[in-house]
Amino acid sequence: MIPEIELKSPQEIKQFQEEKLQELMGYLSENSPYYKKVFSENKIAISDIKSLEDLEKIPVTTKDDLYKFNDDFLCVEPSEIIDYVTTSGTTGNPVFFGLSDKDLDRLAYNEAISFACSKISKNDTIQLMTTIDRRFLAGLAYFLGARKLGAGIIRVGAGIPELQWDSIFKFNPTYLIAVPSFLLKLIEYAEINDIDINTCSVKGVICIGEPLKEQDFSDNSLSKKIKSKWNIELYSTYASTEMSTAFAECEFQQGGHHHPELIIVEILDDQNKPVKDGEDGELVITTLGVEAMPLLRFKTGDVVRAHHGACKCGRNSLRLGPVIGRKKHMIKYKGTTIYPPAMYNLMNDFSEIENYIIEIDKNEIGLDNITIKLGTKAASEDLMKRLKDHIRAKLRVLPTIVILSIDDVHKLQFPGINRKPILFVDKR
Ligand SMILES: [Zn+2]
Repeated sequence: MIPEIELKSPQEIKQFQEEKLQELMGYLSENSPYYKKVFSENKIAISDIKSLEDLEKIPVTTKDDLYKFNDDFLCVEPSEIIDYVTTSGTTGNPVFFGLSDKDLDRLAYNEAISFACSKISKNDTIQLMTTIDRRFLAGLAYFLGARKLGAGIIRVGAGIPELQWDSIFKFNPTYLIAVPSFLLKLIEYAEINDIDINTCSVKGVICIGEPLKEQDFSDNSLSKKIKSKWNIELYSTYASTEMSTAFAECEFQQGGHHHPELIIVEILDDQNKPVKDGEDGELVITTLGVEAMPLLRFKTGDVVRAHHGACKCGRNSLRLGPVIGRKKHMIKYKGTTIYPPAMYNLMNDFSEIENYIIEIDKNEIGLDNITIKLGTKAASEDLMKRLKDHIRAKLRVLPTIVILSIDDVHKLQFPGINRKPILFVDKR
């Protein structure tokens, strides 16, 4: 189930997207109060935008624009909205997204071709270990995608290892959808309760939320840790509510494949100019085929690297590498650019480190300061030396490291009613 366009040449894919872009320009200029205003204020005529390069003539859309002018992005009558979704905006207040009937069909198609990309077929059964309600889009997308593909789906939801294992042995799912760190909880539960995980039906996991790969597509420590105990395939997938589109890995696992029918991808630098091929930049997207709330040049805030060239699976669409970090979390430290996920990876390399939190603030002359607070039962000079050597080797610089009790770090990670631990605090 590979869409034909993904097998075409990069030139043909580009041409195809340019036709879709022109359709979108016509649609927005007729139906979107927000983009009508943008076009008129910037004197953009629809006929000006013919190629993907012409996109540069249009201002980018920020998360802030989406928050401030939320309702103006709606291109259909409110009565056309079937599903109501929210995502957290820049201020922490929710941003609303509406999906029409057609948008739900598009979402189902997106997820079906993304599942198929990761080798899931009609004969598979998927156990969903993420939430499907609470106005989130992801769980619903997975359900619709499985239905469209004809695969079975078991909606267990997030957490509760006992229920997850019970369901695995009762219904024999071949795939799971889960946050990778939750797989460690499942393994831990199985070890305590004498469950032989390698005899269960699960072949692979569609992993969301946390990176599994280094930038060269080798397994990161989280991925290695899981695979050392459990003989399964781990597939990364990257998606968001705003994109309404997923980038899923194929069996060769060389980045998430772009679906040209559904989204236009730009990778931009700080001046909103395209980066050179292979350089890191912010992912900026334009949705295709979205009816209720299409987005044009939306800045996702995620820093990624695109990979071009044919993939062994036959697809020629570009591939996105693992998310390097959030643009706003970028740290300039002693002349080096660092994103928090790189430091999470380093902490995960040490089994002695029980928990950790990374704090960023500014020093008296306005430069970024990094403090890693970690909890361990095995504090020693030897551990400190190995840790420092490892960090220096990978990051080329050494942040301040403070060893605390596991309890104290736990308190810092869960300051309020948070369900998930906080790993990064930005005090700048
Ligand atoms: Zn591929």
